Amino acid sequence: MRDDALRVLKDVFGHAAFRGAQREIVEHVAGGGDALVLMPTGGGKSLCYQVPALLRPGTAVVVSPLIALMQDQVAALTQLGVRAAFLNSTLDLEQVREVERSLLDGSLDLLYVAPERLNTPRCLDLLSHIRPALFAIDEAHCVAQWGHDFRPEYLQLSVLHERFPDVPRIALTATADPATRAEIIERLALQDSRVFVSSFDRPNIRYTIVDKDDARKQLLRFIRNEHPDDAGIVYCLSRKKVDETAEWLAAQGLRALPYHAGMDAPTRAAHQARFQREDSVIVVATIAFGMGIDKPDVRFVAHLDLPRSIEGYYQETGRAGRDGAAADAWMAYGLADVVQQRRFIDQSEGSEAFRRVSSSKLDALLGLCETAQCRRVHLLAYFGEQGEPCGNCDNCLNPPETWDATVASQKSLSAIYRTGNRFGATHLIDVLRGKDTERIRQWGHDKLSVYGIGKAEDEHLWRSVFRQLVALGLARVDHESFGALVLTEAARPVLRGEQKVMMRRIVERTKDSAVRRTRSAAPLSLEGVDAGLLAALKAWRLEEARTQSVPAYVILHDSTLVELARSCPTETDELADIAGFGSRKVERYGDALIELISGFRS
Ligand code: ADP
Ligand code: ZN
Repeated sequence: MRDDALRVLKDVFGHAAFRGAQREIVEHVAGGGDALVLMPTGGGKSLCYQVPALLRPGTAVVVSPLIALMQDQVAALTQLGVRAAFLNSTLDLEQVREVERSLLDGSLDLLYVAPERLNTPRCLDLLSHIRPALFAIDEAHCVAQWGHDFRPEYLQLSVLHERFPDVPRIALTATADPATRAEIIERLALQDSRVFVSSFDRPNIRYTIVDKDDARKQLLRFIRNEHPDDAGIVYCLSRKKVDETAEWLAAQGLRALPYHAGMDAPTRAAHQARFQREDSVIVVATIAFGMGIDKPDVRFVAHLDLPRSIEGYYQETGRAGRDGAAADAWMAYGLADVVQQRRFIDQSEGSEAFRRVSSSKLDALLGLCETAQCRRVHLLAYFGEQGEPCGNCDNCLNPPETWDATVASQKSLSAIYRTGNRFGATHLIDVLRGKDTERIRQWGHDKLSVYGIGKAEDEHLWRSVFRQLVALGLARVDHESFGALVLTEAARPVLRGEQKVMMRRIVERTKDSAVRRTRSAAPLSLEGVDAGLLAALKAWRLEEARTQSVPAYVILHDSTLVELARSCPTETDELADIAGFGSRKVERYGDALIELISGFRS
């Protein structure tokens, strides 16, 4: 079986070797075992069920909640000569019948099904007439009720086990925290399955979290300095901000497109298609975007607003650099983000328990934002993994200084107290800096002892102090009033001078590109590559992608094009040695490529 698995990997998928735990998982599932696979985004989960699907007799049934992903996977598999189809709400009745017929004929290797459809009597009946090769449950964390992507339809998937006890099941997710893992095992009845946990580290992603100052300008600087011609995703919380940011970036000359659920479906689909098919498109989106996008060459993911949890942050940033080449996860974060997220939690309809969970998840994320230690070590620790400082995050590259902020903290906490625990940071900073504003006069805050005691420091510093006070739990954002800061019990010893407070020093690193990259993963090296040929290959690919209506990377990956432009093969036989060419692609594109390349040799 070992050899068979490797043969399928090479011959069909064009890959030379399995990655990490893939081989073990493939052998286990192909041999009839159940598995729970925890692997980070980009780790290579798909092959874990696609290879066994081809090794086992019958049709593998893949449950996936993401329609776009299903379509792309089926397109990619079809390119490889694998017989795959999907059943979801985008098909009309005739198309559904057609797929059902092929399934009953035994002429499908893989069938992708949306969970709500799988649970219908019609579908279950259909499956009872065939012999499923295996069940793959993708995005298995959707079964977790307090998770970030809960899908009620997933709860019904345990029916698979009851109905088809002999068919192996493989559940896959990129969400790693132990509570979610336990919930998946319980709800999908996977108690007897083997659990494969891969490291969640994504060494090629560089994590950077900057203090929000003028977020848009900071973003623009980051993109211009680091990713002038790259594809990327920019996440914002609100639709309005998505629209405004996309428009603004476009006005700065970048190819930026908005994407959110409030847009009409055709425009949204068109923007997604451009992102997938063209080079260097930036999508500005709400978190609705990205689930189901498996574009491998996204070079950066930027957050202009704070996500809700480390899980969310990790999933979103995980969309960068799936191809293994260097990529950036960049976020701008400020106190207003904390206020906003707190408000979401306080105003949510959820139960008290739900709010408590949400609140502690937010705290964990703030801890990541404020840490002076390696971001990666911090992230991995959250997922239960230990690591060494990575050398590829902002804190490793530019270790932040800490300073004794005890006095500044006392001043700030006093300002909160003296003004009655009912004002937000902006007003409190005005009081500390002794400003003359309408509001200050109206409330008589110019008469307070704290008025003007923070004149010596600038607003920037005070903002970072208030933010860190919240992150350190010395003050909190009030439930009822709009962003007001309130003292906590923990503030007492600081006010009484019994406890020191250390804070990160905020250094404006506008010229941070001066810190040259010590990449743990090299960007695609273009040494020895004929740039003209590469451009021609990309143009050829774009044309193919357009005529076939599939994403460009489904035709061939960037790395494959680069390798072609470097090695300039003269015979189609040589193509099989290049990563990314399975036999089907050699057959399909070989002649055209060799001809194109030969035009550049003379
Ligand atoms: P995930 O679903 O875990 O996010 P994918 O299955 O989409 O990851 O794989 C991520 C990328 O890695 C894809 O571009 C895929 O082609 C590539 N990949 C996966 N396994 C291998 C392998 N063994 N060799 C080379 N590339 C691989
Ligand atoms: Zn680090």
